[in-house]
Amino acid sequence: MSQLRIAEIFGPTIQGEGALIGEPTVFVRTGGCDYRCVWCDSLHAVDPAFRHTWSAMTTDAVWAEITRLSKGNPLTVSLSGGNPAIQDFAPLIVKGHTEGYRFACETQGSISRPWFADLDTLVLSPKPPSSGETVDWDAFDACLVAAKEAAHIVMKIVIFDDRDYDWAKMAADRYPTLPLYLQPGNLEVDPAVPVDLQDLSDKLLWLVEKVMADCWFAPKVLPQLHVLLWGNKRGV
Ligand code: SF4
Repeated sequence: MSQLRIAEIFGPTIQGEGALIGEPTVFVRTGGCDYRCVWCDSLHAVDPAFRHTWSAMTTDAVWAEITRLSKGNPLTVSLSGGNPAIQDFAPLIVKGHTEGYRFACETQGSISRPWFADLDTLVLSPKPPSSGETVDWDAFDACLVAAKEAAHIVMKIVIFDDRDYDWAKMAADRYPTLPLYLQPGNLEVDPAVPVDLQDLSDKLLWLVEKVMADCWFAPKVLPQLHVLLWGNKRGV
């Protein structure tokens, strides 16, 4: 049986961002990513320097950990990373669905997978210019095609500055039917450094005032709830 590269499995905790904010969730954070965003807050699941901390697990072993953590309660399972689309989660999703679990996946939209169509929620999070990455919109479109109509598909964009904001408007124009969630970026990602709550609040206010001034009412603007509660601590 093939092995999955897993950086961590934790929860249940609440989903801290986007369409499922507040939802009780078990997180499966995968190891490895095809991007290197300059402000990545999950480098321990991206940088091969942390590879020794990742585990090679079978689907059955991942499933056993999900059911142990959730105590058999059929919660939402969020596949995050890293980029979970690098790996094959089809067998895990099939297994979980038979037990009543729901599956969400968050990915930047650079790699499409047939199992996107089996998800309950697909969060496509294209990275704005401040990330240092360049979005391949053809690859992004392929993710939408792969997801078909089966998944609840939403778009989430992190905004750090005016350029990101303008870019998000361009992305929204490109996909007018996708529900859109915006959140201000957090540049302080060191788990050992306390977050500056005033700074996070100021950034959220800046973004809210900007969309209102523009009469741009399509997106929902949200904070990263887990950062407000736990800072950059991992595994919560
Ligand atoms: Fe980090 Fe996500 Fe960027 Fe990958 S796509 S480097 S996980 S922020």
